[in-house]
Amino acid sequence: MTTMPHWLSKQAFLQPEYPAVDFPDGSCITFAELEKRCKRKAAALSFHGVKEKDHIAILSSNRVSFIESVFALSYLGARAVLLNTRLTIRELDYQINDGDVKAIIYEPAQEEKVEALTAGDVSPLPFHTLTGDHAMPEMKERIDLEDVFTLMYTSGTTGAPKAVLHTYGNHWHSAISSALNLGMERGDKWILNLPMFHVSGFSTLMKGVIYGMTIEHHTRFDAQEVVESIKQRGATMVSGVSVMLEELVEVFDRDDIPGSFRCFLLGGGPATEKLLNRAASLGIPVFQTYGMTETTSQIATLAPADATRKLGSAGKALATASLHIDAAEGEIGEILVAGPMVSGGYYKRDPEDGLLFATGDMGFFDEEGFLYLAGRKKEMIISGGENIYPAEIENVLVQVPGVSGAAVAGMKDEKWGEVPAAFLTGKDIKRDEILQYCERLLARYKHPAYVYRVAELPRNASNKVLKYKLTEMVKAGECDEVE
Ligand code: ATP
Ligand code: MG
Repeated sequence: MTTMPHWLSKQAFLQPEYPAVDFPDGSCITFAELEKRCKRKAAALSFHGVKEKDHIAILSSNRVSFIESVFALSYLGARAVLLNTRLTIRELDYQINDGDVKAIIYEPAQEEKVEALTAGDVSPLPFHTLTGDHAMPEMKERIDLEDVFTLMYTSGTTGAPKAVLHTYGNHWHSAISSALNLGMERGDKWILNLPMFHVSGFSTLMKGVIYGMTIEHHTRFDAQEVVESIKQRGATMVSGVSVMLEELVEVFDRDDIPGSFRCFLLGGGPATEKLLNRAASLGIPVFQTYGMTETTSQIATLAPADATRKLGSAGKALATASLHIDAAEGEIGEILVAGPMVSGGYYKRDPEDGLLFATGDMGFFDEEGFLYLAGRKKEMIISGGENIYPAEIENVLVQVPGVSGAAVAGMKDEKWGEVPAAFLTGKDIKRDEILQYCERLLARYKHPAYVYRVAELPRNASNKVLKYKLTEMVKAGECDEVE
């Protein structure tokens, strides 16, 4: 058992007047104030019957009450089950049942959804009921790194979402390993605009209290707001996904970027080379990362210094982690990971045994040991005995004039077993042009056998493209072939 003082209480003691949370309007909450608020909320939760080891869901977009609820639960030793606000009622019911949730804390905007839930007997705890003065319960002032802190569902891109168990230790090591890689500077300020119900946003919150660093709280991503934070309010770091970087490159000017801005931590999914090149030419310090819910956010990172030389790589494993490829040297195989930030397993499923966690992602190392992602094992297309990775084809398709989005999925084929099919969004897309690009940049067997235009790519609540839905759409006759 390894214990340590509660992270938030510690910062409230070390630097009570230092801003824990800044807001775009210039206001802030200090560490002392945040601790006080979280403990008051813990008292309210205790009044409503929340006890140690209870599973309590939070259904909210980014708000201060979300932050308070997270630490309030931790002061009670209860576990936070984080729910995506974009889930449908059916999806929420599934996660609430599966996660054995006893009560649900939620923001006003979620009221209708919560009322429609049919899952078990879950006590509703809207934010407004968690105020007032209540008797202070005994607070857990020491954190045991082996205790479970959060349950977060995977995005459900490849199947039913699974509840990943994260211990305090997983969150601690994730934050520390990131600091060993990116460094910590006094005055660092990290913009938190990714949803906190995902490991991406949640990990920023953890870094704030573990490092004693200010986070700037944004309710959602707004490119203009990010630029203002960086230029006027001294924000030094921000995490984001590629669609955010796409918007940011549109509003940033080369001369606009202050030297204090030292990191755009890019993760969550593949980024196109076109985007990475554009960001590099503007001088945006992009750190590409690889990670997943199971690894409590990033496990590998590529520094900007290598970004151009190793374009498209996810870098090397963080100091405390290791990466392996289940294949001969230099070949593509499944990525296996190990490290203290890797979850011990999923709720209600057998714990992961063995040292290595099989990610379901395929990749390879170059001669210097840099990791390159090839795609998901389940989405790999096998055509005439050749392995095809959709991302490679997608990277070519997005270069074709008129194409705004591209996804490639395998379709059953009598002769080849499977063939790639392309699904495109955009205007004035011409089949000839697509084939010209493929001819120039891709081996014949990778050329899409079908090219469909769709109004929108089907995505899940995490905004990830659902490949299996695309093939279902073809079967249902919902896609038109491009001429
Ligand atoms: P599920 O496991 O339920 O199918 P999911 O894997 O999409 O859903 P997340 O944990 O949110 O759930 O996403 C992690 C996945 O995102 C990784 O396993 C990987 O496939 C993808 N990913 C993350 N970073 C990158 C990256 N830099 N490049 C390509 N893919 C990435
Ligand atoms: Mg996954």
